[in-house]
Amino acid sequence: MRARIAKAAQTAQRASEDVTLIAVSKGHPADAVRAAIEVGQRTFGENRVQEAKTKFPELRAAHADLDVHLIGPLQTNKARDAVALFDAIHSVDREHLAETLASEIARAGRTPKLFVQVNTGEEPQKAGVAPREAPAFVRQCREQFKLKISGLMCIPPEDEEPSLHFAMLAKLARDVGVNNLSMGMSADFETAIKLGATHVRVGTAIFGERVKA
Ligand SMILES: *Cc1c(COP(=O)(O)O)cnc(C)c1O
Repeated sequence: MRARIAKAAQTAQRASEDVTLIAVSKGHPADAVRAAIEVGQRTFGENRVQEAKTKFPELRAAHADLDVHLIGPLQTNKARDAVALFDAIHSVDREHLAETLASEIARAGRTPKLFVQVNTGEEPQKAGVAPREAPAFVRQCREQFKLKISGLMCIPPEDEEPSLHFAMLAKLARDVGVNNLSMGMSADFETAIKLGATHVRVGTAIFGERVKA
């Protein structure tokens, strides 16, 4: 995995240190995470607050340098847990959530890195702000809720060429002035790196198939 990332970065004339590999451990037990930690992996992704809560507090107690990212949708009533548990949240996508995160961050005195999720394919079943609404939403997060937005995140539609979506996200990031791009999964992370991904979220290609939840 590291070698494939390094090669994709080199091809794109980028430094491989500029690409963070998020090992997506959802659907896999803490032992699988432990095995990855043993070979040097520190950044992990989970898509559910509850699942992360059962796995990571114990792992963190043993490894203070873990970096745990929430990559799935976040319900407002789980915002407090999410702020306590995660180092980054990739799914900020609506006003009420942004407002709640702002107050939970102030309350906890702990600030996860925040990514705004953009629904680049405008799929009704998918979370994320519509691309044309993204600049105003980022502005609102900054000005109204005083949140620092670190980057943008997308999950392209399954049946479309991902590069168009990655390029769209990269352009939006330039427009709103953020440096981080969370894009690319097992099937397309090399394409994402070519188009500027700083965070690739890779599950199956590292841990194998998940048992369906
Ligand atoms: C599960 C998941 C991934 C990882 O998917 P793989 O295809 O297993 O690499 C990446 N991003 C999000 C948001 C996910 O939910």
